Amino acid sequence: MTRTRADWQAIADSLSPRTQAFIDGKFVDAVEGQTTTSISPATGQSLATLAECTAADVDLAVKAARRSFESGVWSRASADTRKATLSKLSALIMDNLDELAVTDSLDMGKLVTDAHTIDVPGSAMILQFYAEAIDKLNGEIPVTPPGNIALVQRVPLGVVGAVIPWNYPLEMAIWKLAPALAAGNSVVLKPAEQSPLSALRLAELAAEAGLPDGVLNVVPGRGETVGRAIGEHPDVDVLTFTGSTEVGKMFMSYSGASNLKQVWLECGGKSANLVFADIDNLNEAAEFAARAIFFNQGEVCSANSRLLVQREIADEFVAAVVAQAKNITVGHPFDPAANMGPLVDRRHTDRVEEYLKQGVALGSVAAGGRRLTIEGSDCYIEPTVITNLAADSAPAKEEIFGPVLAVIPFDTEDEAIALAHNSEYALAASLWTGNLSRAHRVAERLHVGTVSVNTVDALGVTTPFGGFKGSGFGRDLSLHAFDKFTGLKTTWIRY
Ligand code: NAP
Ligand code: MG
Repeated sequence: MTRTRADWQAIADSLSPRTQAFIDGKFVDAVEGQTTTSISPATGQSLATLAECTAADVDLAVKAARRSFESGVWSRASADTRKATLSKLSALIMDNLDELAVTDSLDMGKLVTDAHTIDVPGSAMILQFYAEAIDKLNGEIPVTPPGNIALVQRVPLGVVGAVIPWNYPLEMAIWKLAPALAAGNSVVLKPAEQSPLSALRLAELAAEAGLPDGVLNVVPGRGETVGRAIGEHPDVDVLTFTGSTEVGKMFMSYSGASNLKQVWLECGGKSANLVFADIDNLNEAAEFAARAIFFNQGEVCSANSRLLVQREIADEFVAAVVAQAKNITVGHPFDPAANMGPLVDRRHTDRVEEYLKQGVALGSVAAGGRRLTIEGSDCYIEPTVITNLAADSAPAKEEIFGPVLAVIPFDTEDEAIALAHNSEYALAASLWTGNLSRAHRVAERLHVGTVSVNTVDALGVTTPFGGFKGSGFGRDLSLHAFDKFTGLKTTWIRY
């Protein structure tokens, strides 16, 4: 069913967002009574006035999480019970597909059709994957001397703090919550200030699914207050974070200065897309190259924001990418004709605009390059392609987190690999070639978390996702995510 803008707007008009913190199974005001507003970047208008929590609320949430964990109501519940509860939550997410999609779209500007076909169904599917995995996590019996047996089990770690960004509000929450809850932990989640609404609704749905009180707590508020309080809390056992490298480093400090909680970081990226002259289909590769940077307004940690293209096809390839960029319609996220919505907020758009200015000054703008005002909101950026940039210039090297592609030509395979590695990040890379040996040779040498060959940004619930170097460590998705949320416990019996 294709919906019109009016259809989406009617759903938006019918929403009544949850605006309080969710602690110990109840919606509550912030202890200190402060509130803040959530603004839609599509219109600049306020969506809701909601609780702005502080360290006092975090403390209540951690206490509730600890109580629920120690009680065993979830941590020692049968695998069947946990599986049924999380499966129910997965189903409830799909029952509320329209509402959740519209909520994330309004809150942070992504196309509602993407939220509706990707974010929300993806979240339900990921939750189902971890629900199904609960009774398949077997332990080990290692070899021990005669008369002894040792049981090695995966046990939940206790209270998990989760701090997430705004680019995939519901999905980032699920990436963390699904394996953490499946493993039997209790969770305190801080959504991003810009996009708190779907996480609050998710907490309510979790309660409806039968998740016991205190097992999932959602504390909206600012990073410097709520995020920091979670990071420094002496009774949080594990901290799982997705966001910038800068803030990721802070969580390491918070841990070191408090209780040595485990810290798992999914941080930034400046992923390279390596296009060799021997590609099978130039237009297809160009279409993927454009999608890899313009999808979700370029607000994707693994966005292929550096296009490394072999010199002999560079002009033709860039022209094909530019044609793709010029075909993109920027507009209101409910507009069925739009292919790109607004960036998350004015502050972030200012930051991206700064990089546009540098790109204009330091390179040549082949497409886009301007900030746009649409329907009264100036949070829009044209899909932009910049050529003739030095590899070490800021727009070619720093994470922009917007629809800005830096193009750098190369001559040889070695040079391409060296350019790809010329980054503080190591999250992902893509490579395009029609030569099987080159595909394997280059993929093997690329030191990043995920290499996509003849595609871009490949990702799935069954495969681990995460980076090396400044992109962090630990893996989301796949069964490996359980490594973050369980500990190995040995019980040694002499008989
Ligand atoms: P961010 O500024 O690092 O924020 C991420 C989260 O950390 C937010 O909830 C934020 O709170 C909180 N935070 C901010 N300052 C903090 C502090 N001093 N102490 C504790 N918590 C703090 O990142 P962002 O701008 O929201 O998101 C974009 C970044 O996320 C990009 O770098 C992107 O690459 C990265 N990202 C990575 C992945 C991945 O899987 N590798 C996926 C998506 C995004 P506020 O609500 O106050 O902002
Ligand atoms: Mg918002």
